[in-house]
Amino acid sequence: MEEQEKSLNFIEQIVEKDLAEGKNDGRIQTRFPPEPNGYLHIGHVKAICMDFGIAEKYNGVCNLRFDDTNPAKEDVEYVDSIERDIRWLGFRWGKIFYASDYFEQLYDLAIRFIREGKAYVDEQTAEQIAEQKGTPTEAGVASPYRDRPVEENLRLFQAMQNGEIEEGRMVLRAKIDMANPNMHFRDPIMYRIITSHPHHRTGRRWNVYPMYDFAHGQSDYFEGVTHSICTLEFVVHRPLYDYFIDQFAGPNFAGLSPYGPDYRPHQYEFNRLNITYTVMSKRKMLQLVKEGLVAGWDDPRMPTVCGLRRRGYTPAAIRAFMDKIGYTKVEGMIDQGLLEHTIREDLKETAPRVCAIFDPVKLVITNYPDSSETLVAENIDGHPELGTREMRFSRELFIERGDFLEQADNKFYRLSPGGREVRLKSSYIIQATGCDKDAEGNITTVYATYDPDSKSGTEGGNRKTKATINWVECNSALDAEARLYDRLFAVENPSADERDFRELLNPESLVVKHIKVEGSLRKEMKNGQMANDQMVNDQMVIDYSHYQLLKQGYFVVDPDTTADHLVLNRTCSLKDNYLK
Ligand code: ATP
Ligand code: MG
Repeated sequence: MEEQEKSLNFIEQIVEKDLAEGKNDGRIQTRFPPEPNGYLHIGHVKAICMDFGIAEKYNGVCNLRFDDTNPAKEDVEYVDSIERDIRWLGFRWGKIFYASDYFEQLYDLAIRFIREGKAYVDEQTAEQIAEQKGTPTEAGVASPYRDRPVEENLRLFQAMQNGEIEEGRMVLRAKIDMANPNMHFRDPIMYRIITSHPHHRTGRRWNVYPMYDFAHGQSDYFEGVTHSICTLEFVVHRPLYDYFIDQFAGPNFAGLSPYGPDYRPHQYEFNRLNITYTVMSKRKMLQLVKEGLVAGWDDPRMPTVCGLRRRGYTPAAIRAFMDKIGYTKVEGMIDQGLLEHTIREDLKETAPRVCAIFDPVKLVITNYPDSSETLVAENIDGHPELGTREMRFSRELFIERGDFLEQADNKFYRLSPGGREVRLKSSYIIQATGCDKDAEGNITTVYATYDPDSKSGTEGGNRKTKATINWVECNSALDAEARLYDRLFAVENPSADERDFRELLNPESLVVKHIKVEGSLRKEMKNGQMANDQMVNDQMVIDYSHYQLLKQGYFVVDPDTTADHLVLNRTCSLKDNYLK
């Protein structure tokens, strides 16, 4: 296929224009700023591909910055998982920063704002403050504490930090404009008190913590970020982002960045990723985990990076998906089918094919000797370069119950007594001769004869039959647990639904089957899949084995697998429901 020249997305266009104009001396610096209050989800990956992608493409650097300004919700567990997931996706950061690294500088900046009459301590409740905000067309009401003397503000803010004031009793607000049409300018909160939780890095050092709007732009500025890329909901925050930076950059340059008075970071926004039949919010995901509605953050139904990994998604497929959907300035919803389509396309090229029987019935080949032989089958038919595997064959096999009918019409091409020839996948042609049944009339054994001259790979192997069926040899077959995953939610857009999102879960999102698989999968039965993590060229390679179970779908070996219990997760079915 012809490689098409990919057109630039709108942020790449901005970057190229900035480079052409010689802005920031040609320096390109981005950051990915997760809050370590949950695991990364596929929405974050969209931001990751943008932030790291821009840096990669334009010889810049992308730093990882943990936006750890709310100790009540954050934890090192999340920090570790975020690093691991980014590495697994194949990206590398320049440095790791923490917003908490700047608590001292931000505090000093807040003091400076108070001294300059640009901030005040408000003693009203959160409800009172909210009530006074006004509406976009109606001015807000000034707090009675708005015009406190500077000295009093300084004393109270210090008392807040000293732990002398109860959590929730006071906040520090910027004194900007209670009538501004942009509600974010109506004296936004800069600092709040959090004493109930120690911070995962700074412990009990701080009793006041900066709000997003007071921390984010400043952190970008201290680090020298040139392009601060985020999602569209921050468009309305951008003027405030610029306002705070205006107070100490440009003509007000205060030496807080090594890049001089002309430098300032700029914020750009793209559309969030939303996918049908799932949710894209850490808060909701945390609820699902905490309430046991899924098996954990890495439950294969979760849209988290670790969930997708356990489901069998590859970094290549996830990145290809991001390439397909692109970046715009309009919010939308992406069909989950496209995500599945992308992993299917990837696995189609790489996953070895193996036989598995989901509803087994025994087949006895009456004219086959009482011995066994080893057949050799290609991992992917027609691709000998992708390797072969051995399949044990003997007179007793398992086949799918549905592949045999005692009485069949002439539209049924699979096994049925009466001279119909059927090929056993990668082996011989057989004809059914009859069956045994139990007292209830259920078939217990199917009988057949085989043609010794019809073996696949020999001349007789070219003989065509109308149907080919799967089989596994009885003695060497392995029992496996197949976890058949489906969409987590029963409705297309759970976030837009009036009902509680937990009531909208798909009751059939996990169906467990006990199946028989061919013996070649024995090599997967070992403890500690996850122990196979290794760093290769800075990328974390987690060695998951992917297979196509013929006629059933793509599966991946689950880490729950032990030396005597094989667990396979269905990544996706074979059928592609995604129509372009
Ligand atoms: P959530 O709403 O799930 O808690 P968040 O935006 O609070 O997500 P952060 O950790 O603050 O999570 O996000 C880090 C970065 O990832 C931000 O730049 C944010 O814009 C981006 N991001 C988060 N969700 C999405 C999404 N669905 N699509 C694209 N980017 C996203
Ligand atoms: Mg956030």
